[in-house]
Amino acid sequence: MNYYGYGGNILYVNLTTGIVKSEVLNETLARKYIGGCGIGLRLLYDLLKPGIAPHSPENPIIISAGPLVGTLVPGSNKIQMLTKFAIPANKEQTKYYVGIGSGGSNRFGLMMKSAGYDQIVVTGSANKPVYLKIMNDHVEICSAADLWGRDIYETTDELMKRYLGCGVIAIGRGGESMAPLSLAFVDARNTIGKGAASVMGSKNLKAISVYGDRGVKVWDPKLLMKLSIDINETIRQIPYFNKPGIANWSLGKKWAVHYPPKIWKETLLNSKGCSSCTLTCKSFHKINTGAFSGNTLSTGVFMLVPIYGRRLELKDYGESMELLATANRLGIDFSSMAGMTKFLIRLKERGILTTKDTDGLDLRLGDIQSCLKLAHKIANRDGIGDSMAQGWHALASRVGVDPNTDPDGDGIVKGTSTLYDGRFTPMDPTRFMCVVNPRGGMHSHPITYYPGRSVSVIREFCQGMGLSEEEIEPVFNADDFNCGRLERHCEDGEAIWFSLGVCSKYVMYGIYNISPLSALYTAVTGFQITPEELKKAGERIWNLYKIINIREGFGREDDAFPGLWVKTIDEPIKGEIRLRDYFGKPLQHKDLEKMLDDYYDERGWNSSEGIPSEEKRKALGLDGLDSNRIPKQAL
Ligand code: SF4
Repeated sequence: MNYYGYGGNILYVNLTTGIVKSEVLNETLARKYIGGCGIGLRLLYDLLKPGIAPHSPENPIIISAGPLVGTLVPGSNKIQMLTKFAIPANKEQTKYYVGIGSGGSNRFGLMMKSAGYDQIVVTGSANKPVYLKIMNDHVEICSAADLWGRDIYETTDELMKRYLGCGVIAIGRGGESMAPLSLAFVDARNTIGKGAASVMGSKNLKAISVYGDRGVKVWDPKLLMKLSIDINETIRQIPYFNKPGIANWSLGKKWAVHYPPKIWKETLLNSKGCSSCTLTCKSFHKINTGAFSGNTLSTGVFMLVPIYGRRLELKDYGESMELLATANRLGIDFSSMAGMTKFLIRLKERGILTTKDTDGLDLRLGDIQSCLKLAHKIANRDGIGDSMAQGWHALASRVGVDPNTDPDGDGIVKGTSTLYDGRFTPMDPTRFMCVVNPRGGMHSHPITYYPGRSVSVIREFCQGMGLSEEEIEPVFNADDFNCGRLERHCEDGEAIWFSLGVCSKYVMYGIYNISPLSALYTAVTGFQITPEELKKAGERIWNLYKIINIREGFGREDDAFPGLWVKTIDEPIKGEIRLRDYFGKPLQHKDLEKMLDDYYDERGWNSSEGIPSEEKRKALGLDGLDSNRIPKQAL
């Protein structure tokens, strides 16, 4: 098959046997599951033995790139890492979800496609540290003895020096020590796979470097150029284009003094995007204050600096920048780490923990040195750091306090922190996705990501996403929308973006409706597809995502709102802080249950268990796939 858009091959590497083989991508598979996370999930469904441990050599890692990746389509650089993630999802620490980690790439996606691969499937486990070197058809498992122990930036730089022009996925010390809280970096810029990088570590796989020189052939270059220019024109109209809108945070009077938004600009060295991106949300900074002055930070979310600097009461913003940079170098998830650190400090202040419980560390708010030491303890799986490295449930069991309900804990779903506290931001599909996402705690970027959009704007977004009038009708009231029902369509959209390989950040600005996406898909691949068919493919892919996780024992009981989100805070100045809908109406417990009921109903899933009905599976061409749950006693 002579493909356009697709690399045309799936690369299989078994690290135990050293066997490397390449198979031609099946056209039926490509048409039905589009690419990226869609094809990745379908392969994983066959390759993953239900119930196996995440760190078992049998657990495959699939790196997948969609058909638009490597083309000039704006923001078409997202790759996915799919595997059974290693963060325990339940208190008993017996359940682990199958997840999709998605990350932008500067070179990796383009190089992978240019080398001729749509997916790289890694199984088995090497008996010593290795990295995978891919140069077009030449694939080699190389010793990583000299890279093991080096941080993410050093590893990436070294491989980029060795293989000029290559793309790199690398893990740091956190991944090497198989810390479930670890993450990998793509091209040293984009994070991918919190909970999956340790699976790389369990395979002794330090990095993957890929170089290809064949380019990505597209079916209709002229049409593609025209469509891409149109999209770039739309981008130029958005208010945040090329402006540091990201720096418009508000922390309240007390903390605004320590973290004024101008620090973004004052520390900025440059901002860059992933390949083919005109939004450029990645920025590089130089610390210009305090003990860490002169050190650098690379991040896609500078907002983490003020948010967690305030939470940890680090008055010098340079300290918060250094903490984030350290987490990045070690390859551990910063927001989970900072949330856990704060939790431990508070427990110590409340007399529940002593210095002995934290391995002699005198943890205090505002003390950067103890925060940095904890970061290293997590990456090295040392003492209390080992429990933190294994996620919230392991930490809770060690300290004997449930962080999901304790006021100093965190919003946790399926063992994973939510970036947002639902009480401080309006409930919309961004936040609701944290509850129902099979990966737990992960949000999306729908149009409602920003508060204050009107019902008519959201309705327009739905029309743009290909909802028919019959589908729109149950989602909207005159002055409101049904969050549970809208969620389903946002998820279908996310499945489409992740399968094509476009960045979801474009979506929160209202770019990338279903019609231009189907036109782009056809211009790139030559495969005719209507917006309705593309929308249906998104639904199919999300249902498959759910089915794989049902096989792993997940059900409605796992789609639970974080305990903290449902607790009201009485704030002396602001008054009652609680869960509210997008337009500010307080939400009661029964409203949340109804939100879940509506969501399952809209999906055509059994509302007591959250399992796709037989009818639904048949309609989506997923009949025949086993969605029997692993019995509880077997987990
Ligand atoms: S918006 Fe940011 S994450 Fe998305 S493609 Fe551009 S630089 Fe990458």
